[in-house]
Amino acid sequence: MADRDFDVVVVGAGPAGLTAACRAAECGCRVAMLDDNPQPGGQIWRGAAKQATPWVRAAEKHGVVWTAGARVFDAPEPQRLAVETFDGECRVGYRNLILATGARERFLPFPGWTLPNVMGAGGLQALAKSGMPLAGKRVVIAGSGPLLLAVARYLRAHGADVRLLAEQAPQAAVIRFVLSYPRKLVQALTLRAGLIGVPYLTSCWPVSAQGCERLESVTLRRSDGRTWTEACDYLACGFGLIPNVELAALLGCRMSQPSVEVDDLQLTSVAGVYSAGEATGIGGLELSLVEGEIAGYAAGGNADRAKALFATRARHRRFADALEQAFALRRELRNLPHPATLICRCEDVTMERVRACSNWREAKLHTRCGMGPCQGRICGGAVEFLLGWQAESVRPPVLPARVRSMSR
Ligand SMILES: Cc1cc2nc3c(=O)[nH]c(=O)nc-3n(C[C@H](O)[C@H](O)[C@H](O)COP(=O)(O)OP(=O)(O)OC[C@H]3O[C@@H](n4cnc5c(N)ncnc54)[C@H](O)[C@@H]3O)c2cc1C
Repeated sequence: MADRDFDVVVVGAGPAGLTAACRAAECGCRVAMLDDNPQPGGQIWRGAAKQATPWVRAAEKHGVVWTAGARVFDAPEPQRLAVETFDGECRVGYRNLILATGARERFLPFPGWTLPNVMGAGGLQALAKSGMPLAGKRVVIAGSGPLLLAVARYLRAHGADVRLLAEQAPQAAVIRFVLSYPRKLVQALTLRAGLIGVPYLTSCWPVSAQGCERLESVTLRRSDGRTWTEACDYLACGFGLIPNVELAALLGCRMSQPSVEVDDLQLTSVAGVYSAGEATGIGGLELSLVEGEIAGYAAGGNADRAKALFATRARHRRFADALEQAFALRRELRNLPHPATLICRCEDVTMERVRACSNWREAKLHTRCGMGPCQGRICGGAVEFLLGWQAESVRPPVLPARVRSMSR
């Protein structure tokens, strides 16, 4: 792709990015949509789901320029992004920018969490969606949040032998949450119906994973102290989601920890830069869709159409608040890592070494924690929960990039 300028550039082609791009293009803007994946759809749709099709078609109809495999790794000058594509690097200019960069899974370290076949719940689902065969494989799913149920249902439907689902939240919190949202209750019951025979254990979490070359079993604990070991081939583990805010932080957008702060029109603290979807807070599909629409209309100059969607967004935000409360991580999980447990798997830094420091900056300087290829994307979320430290600064590249791309 050659260097180009657009009225509106959308980073992220998940539900929020797709709706934002469509609405901005409907307003008559020249729009580009960039995403590092080969197909639009983001985490939930991954290019294949039929729910994405109407939005992808609408984007095509309105002339949205879609670039597959376009990784935005820097913002080297005002209103210009540095983008790496499959075959090169280019600069993309914008008048207005919409950051719809989504979220990633939060991992919590425990002894054995770096063994092969211990992976993120959404990560294992993504591998299955890309064709990895799981038929007959024994899978334990553990962590927190509704994503675990969706993953369990998907893996089972694709032949996996899902042994159990361990949810760290207490049963009372989960029941209260589900009962207060009748539509979600229907969704939850539908998911559960596809999991008949699979135990859903609340107040339950993994404490260690065992194996030689690869995972062989996981040890689980319940809040009453009962501890036992389950043999399995895969452990799919995720303790909620963390917003992807690195690009917003690089652009100087104010944060409302851990998300990008936005006003009613999804405008960040930086003029011309909007944000929508899970980057602005974890709230599920419907909230991402409507936030994307609002940001798209606002960036396209039609504030009235944006305002007409405020009530819908408020309803979905209430759901997001309830979600956060129901699946808040319990304090006991702070004791999961032992002194010798790796916290930073890129740089082999143990809990003992991280704990000897007094903040994130000191840990980086003295141990290289968070300085490896993932740039703290994995250990940062864990350290934030375990020790309450926030990452202080973001430097380019915000995603790994070729040296040639960065030397322009
Ligand atoms: C791993 C995972 C699996 C999930 N699976 C489910 C599920 O099965 N069911 C469910 O209901 N919900 C699922 N969710 C939650 C779901 O993703 C959200 O509810 C919602 O769809 C988020 O939409 P979004 O548009 O905000 O973000 P996303 O769908 O995450 O889209 C953001 C997109 O931005 C791209 N991106 C980010 N930074 C850059 C950059 N710098 N350059 C280029 N591209 C960039 C990402 O690759 C991604 O494609 C999952 C979440 C995760 C993290």
